[in-house]
Amino acid sequence: MKQVYNFSPGPAVLPHSVLQQAQAEMLDWQGSGVSVMEMSHRGKAFMSIAEKAEADLRKLLNIPNNYKVLFLQGGAHAQFAMIPLNLLQGKQQADYMETGDWSVRAIEEARRYGHVNVVASSISSNFTTIPERSTWQVNPNAAYFHYVDNETIRGVEFDAIPEVGDVTLVADMSSNILSRPIDVARFGVIYAGAQKNIGPAGLTIAIVREDLLGKADPKTPNILNYQIYADNDSMYNTPPTYAWYIAGLVFEWLLAQGGLEAMAVLNERKAEKLYAAIDQSDFYANPVDKQYRSWMNVPFTLRDPQWDAVFLKQAEEAGLVTLKGHRQVGGMRASIYNAMPEAGVDALISFMQQFEQAHG
Ligand SMILES: *Cc1c(COP(=O)(O)O)cnc(C)c1O
Repeated sequence: MKQVYNFSPGPAVLPHSVLQQAQAEMLDWQGSGVSVMEMSHRGKAFMSIAEKAEADLRKLLNIPNNYKVLFLQGGAHAQFAMIPLNLLQGKQQADYMETGDWSVRAIEEARRYGHVNVVASSISSNFTTIPERSTWQVNPNAAYFHYVDNETIRGVEFDAIPEVGDVTLVADMSSNILSRPIDVARFGVIYAGAQKNIGPAGLTIAIVREDLLGKADPKTPNILNYQIYADNDSMYNTPPTYAWYIAGLVFEWLLAQGGLEAMAVLNERKAEKLYAAIDQSDFYANPVDKQYRSWMNVPFTLRDPQWDAVFLKQAEEAGLVTLKGHRQVGGMRASIYNAMPEAGVDALISFMQQFEQAHG
């Protein structure tokens, strides 16, 4: 079997042992005689999988009892609509931070439902930083404050939870959820598409404070209404059962690694050594403000972009795959999510050093 290190931004690498367990259980889940894919979502077997996944996620993130954990579909894009539909609650105005491409998408969608106040934007820096807190124009009457905790495309991550007073805080954590501990109680809603740091594409998780439920715009489709999911244990209609099961295996794996404190130590170390390798060379560069460099997505450029294609080809031959940068940015991007072993980052760094020696 070909073994590679997969730096894909998403769908992304999964823990090897999780895939092996899924393989072993593929045809016969724990003596049931059927695959998880073939089970009724309302049957006893799947219900036990679903409940265990939620319990393990609650343990990992230390989710308080007054929050619902919802297992949804539609990716982060569905959340871009669900947030205003469920949270505007008659106020008609919401605050949005603009710190990258996903912020822009979220803002565009929210404008269909109400007035968006762009609190601050880093677009003039080409989205390489987070605007200074003193420049933010927070609206105390906003229904909520939305931000993207980690901008996956340009690799910009908040280094702390934004201070926004009493306004309900909403975070897109699609690409950094479970990478470190977070204080869930500071948030109204946290959401994440699964395909970066949780599991397969097709599952989306939202963690919603209970007092925010039940006040959706009356025109909200049932399938986009948080309350409907909360009332039906995320089984109002057929959920993405297999993705839910794999996510559950990932949660078990994370607990076995020592939970999110242990992941944070490892993720910081992985990121720091890759940024150090970039900064120590004048062949490679990363434009992001050091304070806000992402632990999960590390974009970098070569001094001379004429080498980009050669770099990517030789990296692939060395078993380092999916390093091409986003088409908006060019260059390279190494996504180093929880499931990327430290040995993969080490292998990338030594490949980069060899490539620089040959072409620098
Ligand atoms: C990938 C990503 C999205 C888009 O996710 P979909 O599941 O494709 O809708 C949105 N926000 C962030 C931060 C992402 O990383």
